[in-house]
Amino acid sequence: MSDAFGRPFLTRSITLMNPSIKKLYNFLKLEVEHGYDNRAIIGGLDKMLGLWQAEARLNNLSEVLIQLVASRLQDYHRLTPQGRADAVQGLWKRIQREAGDDVPALPVRLPSEKKVEKAAVAPKRAPRPLVTEAKPAGAPGETLPAELPAEPPVERRADVERPTLQPRPATAADVTPAALQAQVTVLAGVGPRHGQTLARLGLHTLGDMLYFFPRRYDDYSTLKPISRLEYGEEVTIIGKAESVVTRRIHSGQRQLVEAVVSDGSGTLRVTWWNPYVAKRVRSGMYVVLSGKIDQYLGRLVMVNPEVEPMEQENLHTNRIVPVYPLTANITQRWLRSRMYEVVSHWAPRVQDPLPESLRRAFEVMDLPSALLQAHFPDTHAQLAAARHRLAFDEIFLLQLGVLRQKRQWQARRARIFATSDEWLQAAVARLPFPLTGAQQRALADVRADLASGRPMNRLLQGDVGSGKTVIAALAVAMITHHGGQAAIMAPTSILAEQHYKTLSKLLAETLPAESIRLMVGATPESEKGVIRDGLAQGKIQLVIGTHALLEEPVTFANLQLAVIDEQHRFGVEQRALLRSKGDNPHLLVMTATPIPRSLALTVYGDLDLSVIDEMPPGRQPVQTVVLFPSERERAYQKICREIEKGYRAFIIYPLVEESENSDKAAVEEHARLQKTIFPQYRLGLLHGRMKADEKEAVMLDFRDGRLDILVSTSVVEVGVDVPEATVMLIEGANRFGLAQLHQFRGRVGRGTAQSYCILIPEQPDETENQRLMAMAETNDGFVLAERDLQQRGPGDFLGTRQAGFSELKLASLSDVRLIEKARKAAQTLFERDPELSLPEHGGLAAALQRFWAGAVTDIS
Ligand code: ADP
Ligand code: MG
Repeated sequence: MSDAFGRPFLTRSITLMNPSIKKLYNFLKLEVEHGYDNRAIIGGLDKMLGLWQAEARLNNLSEVLIQLVASRLQDYHRLTPQGRADAVQGLWKRIQREAGDDVPALPVRLPSEKKVEKAAVAPKRAPRPLVTEAKPAGAPGETLPAELPAEPPVERRADVERPTLQPRPATAADVTPAALQAQVTVLAGVGPRHGQTLARLGLHTLGDMLYFFPRRYDDYSTLKPISRLEYGEEVTIIGKAESVVTRRIHSGQRQLVEAVVSDGSGTLRVTWWNPYVAKRVRSGMYVVLSGKIDQYLGRLVMVNPEVEPMEQENLHTNRIVPVYPLTANITQRWLRSRMYEVVSHWAPRVQDPLPESLRRAFEVMDLPSALLQAHFPDTHAQLAAARHRLAFDEIFLLQLGVLRQKRQWQARRARIFATSDEWLQAAVARLPFPLTGAQQRALADVRADLASGRPMNRLLQGDVGSGKTVIAALAVAMITHHGGQAAIMAPTSILAEQHYKTLSKLLAETLPAESIRLMVGATPESEKGVIRDGLAQGKIQLVIGTHALLEEPVTFANLQLAVIDEQHRFGVEQRALLRSKGDNPHLLVMTATPIPRSLALTVYGDLDLSVIDEMPPGRQPVQTVVLFPSERERAYQKICREIEKGYRAFIIYPLVEESENSDKAAVEEHARLQKTIFPQYRLGLLHGRMKADEKEAVMLDFRDGRLDILVSTSVVEVGVDVPEATVMLIEGANRFGLAQLHQFRGRVGRGTAQSYCILIPEQPDETENQRLMAMAETNDGFVLAERDLQQRGPGDFLGTRQAGFSELKLASLSDVRLIEKARKAAQTLFERDPELSLPEHGGLAAALQRFWAGAVTDIS
């Protein structure tokens, strides 16, 4: 059994590692094995960083670790082989220290000099013919040489599969002349030193610069006569500079440039704490000043305004001025000038991959204008339109790629599993309960997929407790009834075991007990061997397990269905890997993350979607209250009363990210609670630094009643059933998004008894209280997710503080209308011309091609 790269898969020690750490491990290992030639990943290690960071945040990896990785790898391609070896090994040691014992060691190998393609060498300036583009009349800024060196295209190697899946968002490379691949050092006045500085901002090529957007804009577009200035406003004035003098003050340590500017309506005193201004501003000169009106000794003044001579085309003044992210050693003014050089020259030359007809249909601006206006807007309306277009592109290309992937997958053939009405009705009748309407709809979707002759690729989304498992069980039954094999993969052993018990019961009359097996990391070797044989010979029809299913050399005689529970806990590779164990098996993935539909269709656009939006009947809703911190005692009393009745309680503490030891709150509180509040009860502790098996042991103790109270950070396991748990107390509730609170709440109310959820924010804050009250108002995870989306953006219900796709530069996943529009546009286009073979779609096809270059897809 081998992984996606044809190497033996990792040992079980990393079973429960964060998927992003694991992915990074795979990258780095490959890189080591390649002798640090920076070719293991197409485009180089640093090219995968953005995507990896975004995923890492989705996977809840700590920001500290994410930043560590980013800082160590960002200049990787510039390093010498030895420097690369040091960077990789050093980084991994740090990760092992930070991320704990689960993390395996990297192989050590010396860098091979021969293999290194180009380390720390500036690109050769072999001139290449520039892609010839019609030059629009009056294109500004002829500042660049007509011929620019182009970076050699990154080679694709047929022998290695690259381990990244998701598409990069549109970057300059996707839309435009090869010359934009030229290094920034081709710009006049940008030498190797500046080149390095710009690289820190992620600016390696001219194309990077074109897509490096301002962090904000200063609106200096209001031009006013001096006599009408008001204190505090941001304005532009034009006037004649008089009596410009430089003074030394503070005993000569600082220099101050002073001038009086007059415009016929009045005069204004202006000062700069910058002696160099005196070089630009001389007495008698007409200048344009932009900045904020301040006051000094009862008179209006300007301090440190931007200033330009009047005859110059205004860049820093008298307009909506872009403000870019900066780094050490460069000034805003310098960078803005460089940006202007690039943008004014290249934006008009960029080819718009969207043909005019589509632009009109989608109501978006053309790309050259959008790029120009996003940097140097003429008006606010133009700026908004520009950003809209660029954001549209990001979602649109993402979506086109995803649709294409889906189409390719659907072009494959799968075995047909047609189920008769009678058989299915009988199977449903054997269940201990009637299905809800939503379950019936999901079942119908699954049944149709299985009978379609194309591989099912379905996401089953349903709130915690909505009853997804039974749908999976029926899917398994439909497959095994016709002799196919099925596998169910869950993220933890506890969950796998829980599924094993549930499915054994649900399928008792369908499958003999010995043809259902459980395989987790802790399964004894001998038993694993038996299971492997049984699967290889087809005697076992259903195996339920963890990552162990992937890591053990498991082969199937006839795998026809792969089910993945809590799919956000797995990487796309793992999905692909499980699937690769059969010949185009059907795939069902399940998630309890309540993502609004439009977003789900974007994020999981390659999957078909079934939503279980209805709870089984008779569930008592969890009673939810918000308490002030001063009322905490009441919560403790409630817990005591429930424990006396034989029930159990969770107490959750937030991870405090700023602190050194983010588990501190839970650890300290656990000690305090045990000692002073609940001395008579048994308290367990669960936090992120514990090893996976320790966590499982505590969770089992709690499940089986050896603990009364479980004190935990937010690591508390999703999906585990503890029917006797009736109280969920969440401290620091203000730190959580509503959707995440809702997930916690889903841990209780799984039995028949009335359950309670108690939220305590850190401060008695009215607004926060209002927000949390939404929890008391509804038990509907989708409603809460929508509110999160409105209030805090999409990051929260994806479980992270940052937006899910942080590499989306301009598109916000909370902009549901944009997402809807881009998605519909992609869909419409795809329906008309799925291969993008019409001549007018040539540009798009090329953009899409580059968009996916280097990405290993789920189905490759
Ligand atoms: P989840 O969607 O969170 O995985 P489960 O599949 O674990 O939810 O179901 C939660 C509980 O609801 C289980 O105890 C299950 O037996 C029960 N259940 C599922 N469907 C129904 C139904 N239609 N009627 C009554 N109880 C149901
Ligand atoms: Mg479940």
